[in-house]
Amino acid sequence: MANIYVTRKIPEAGISLLKEAGHDVDISDKDGVLTKEELIKALKEKEYDAVLCLLTDKIDTEIYEAAGNAKIFANYAVGYGNLDMDEAKKRGITVTNTPGVLTDTVSEYAMALILAVVKRIPEGDKFTKELRYDGWAPELLLGSDLKGKTLGVLGAGRIGSSVAIRAKRGFEMNIVYYDIKPNKILEGEIEAEYKDSVDEVLKIADVVTIHVPLLDSTRHLINKERLAMMKPTAYLINTSRGPVVDEKALVEALNNGIIHGAGLDVFEDEPNLAHGLPELTNAVITPHIASATRETRGKMSEIAATNIIDFLDGKEPPNKV
Ligand code: NAD
Repeated sequence: MANIYVTRKIPEAGISLLKEAGHDVDISDKDGVLTKEELIKALKEKEYDAVLCLLTDKIDTEIYEAAGNAKIFANYAVGYGNLDMDEAKKRGITVTNTPGVLTDTVSEYAMALILAVVKRIPEGDKFTKELRYDGWAPELLLGSDLKGKTLGVLGAGRIGSSVAIRAKRGFEMNIVYYDIKPNKILEGEIEAEYKDSVDEVLKIADVVTIHVPLLDSTRHLINKERLAMMKPTAYLINTSRGPVVDEKALVEALNNGIIHGAGLDVFEDEPNLAHGLPELTNAVITPHIASATRETRGKMSEIAATNIIDFLDGKEPPNKV
């Protein structure tokens, strides 16, 4: 039997797996993210052998120190930019994530954000509920079509490819993409066209959708200069990680007609928003819910638990990063 600490309440499926495997599970009962001090205090209360943490927990040296016995941190997310990976490596700590199960869910959501902003659905919803609709009009809330337009995908991994396939097959869009490594399968399957650089994608895409991980090399991948390369009629969609986009520069670009619209599920300094962003009618913004379906959040909980169970059994966990 091992002691496991879970930093916030997650769907029961994974917790049940941990208990069925005979482990002792403590779950934070705070309705929100633990502060660093609270997390350190909680981790020092017992000799924990494993920690199940969330993307909202910043896991650094002091946290690893407080959980001195824990040789596995199972992150309840596909991204793992919230953990200090160099420090984990130094300490021989295994980090796992929950990839794969989110792919369809997040790519459906990216499509939903594209449609929401391009077809102006939130604006139309607000307008109608405010009882401002006084009859059909030829130029009321004009949006754009997707058919025949170009979708630019930045990062054609699991989610990026899945969005590309949906946009091509479901909406008859042309696909161009940039990734540090070309995706030949995607090219064969939907005739996606590889471009040599981010800039080449930005210059020709009508909708740009971002699916790179947050790394030093992708921080502010989209900045003021790159926004200026986009078509004034183009839309930018971000369901990856907030800091990939310079949010202040994006607000400026949206205000000044440098680009036409944006759909954002992630923000640079969550849960804070850049000054001026909430007031923009040409930005659809949602609270990091791209993977938030009952099905997927349940499966993520099971995967995070399985990673811990296998590790504690002396096996290689399936999703070691
Ligand atoms: P993945 O690893 O399958 O794909 C990422 C792709 O980005 C890879 O093909 C990689 O080669 C490419 N890449 C890396 N650095 C690059 C660079 N500098 N330029 C261009 N391409 C680069 O990951 P995934 O499962 O598709 O997830 C992508 C990201 O989506 C995750 O890292 C995570 O941060 C984010 N995500 C967000 C949510 C949400 O709720 N909004 C949910 C799940 C995942």
